[in-house]
Amino acid sequence: MPIHTLYPAERGNLTLSYEYFPPKTDEMETQLFKTVAELAVFSPAFVTVTYGAGGSTKARSLTTVRRMIRETGLANTAAHLTCVGATKSEVDAVVADFAACGVRHFVALRGDPQGGIGSAYTPFPGGYENAAALVAGIRAAGDFEISVSAYPEKHPESPDVAADIDTLKRKVDNGATRALTQFFFDNDDFERYLERVRRAGITIPVVPGILPINNLAQVRKFAGLCGARVPDAVITRLIHLDEMPEERIKEATHIAAEQIVDLARRGLRDFHLYTMNRSPLIEAVCDLVGFERQASAARDNAAAGAAA
Ligand code: FAD
Repeated sequence: MPIHTLYPAERGNLTLSYEYFPPKTDEMETQLFKTVAELAVFSPAFVTVTYGAGGSTKARSLTTVRRMIRETGLANTAAHLTCVGATKSEVDAVVADFAACGVRHFVALRGDPQGGIGSAYTPFPGGYENAAALVAGIRAAGDFEISVSAYPEKHPESPDVAADIDTLKRKVDNGATRALTQFFFDNDDFERYLERVRRAGITIPVVPGILPINNLAQVRKFAGLCGARVPDAVITRLIHLDEMPEERIKEATHIAAEQIVDLARRGLRDFHLYTMNRSPLIEAVCDLVGFERQASAARDNAAAGAAA
């Protein structure tokens, strides 16, 4: 019988962080800030806001980040930033805009090719050529916390895991202080990857990215694009539940909670949750694992911000 709840003594020092994406419409914005308020109860160490392909969400990312910091009091809101479709000075200006909103933490990424995932990546003329160069640029701009990506099952463009780890090393050498992983479902994959990362002399925290599965078909499609594997064991548990939403959510909750509990028992302390801007599944997972709900100023401010 899989175990999906930690004993109280096992819960010490666990931290959570959440990924959100900038809303496209007013309705989605209301939904996002309701989610932010609901999930603030688990006192995330930080939250992150993504940056659209090719900088397509620049204005929305800025507005979202500003509102997170100023209205909801989520002081440690990290802004994702990519190198795509912009010169160095344009990217540097965006860094300055985020800093003016109160951002002290960036998630520095190369970004996907402008032709879409699968096409060849060409650095923008006069732009940062890759994530490592962007890390150096942000590091030069100020005393920021800088997170970067990591790929336990390797990035689809990478010839092998060793090349992936070399890339991570370059990002760390240039000043990255934390890696957030692509989502994965097999903790053995993650543990093998982490061992290789440590053998390469990389000592920064590598935080597992956890994606609770709201929609199996969507996750399988997305996983296929970004080189992540949805194990048969996970598919088997969810595939017959499409027409049974309550059962499906319950099973998805158990799958994610089991994954977190197993990682915690392997010594992992920090967990980055891909929220998809929705709270019910994330809340259910956190409750089942045993993360404590805390009264907090951030939660109260977030609730006030959501109601505004
Ligand atoms: P890097 O870390 O520079 O490279 C990733 C891997 O690809 C490397 O390990 C390297 O080996 C290989 N690689 C890179 N370039 C080449 C090359 N030219 N030839 C061969 N191999 C190469 N995308 C967005 O658009 N917006 C976001 O907000 C966003 N947030 C993300 C957050 C996380 C935590 C993660 C894991 C991904 C995110 N992405 C986002 C997706 C990311 O932009 C893509 O995966 C992109 O293809 C790679 O960017 P990177 O920073 O991971 O690249």
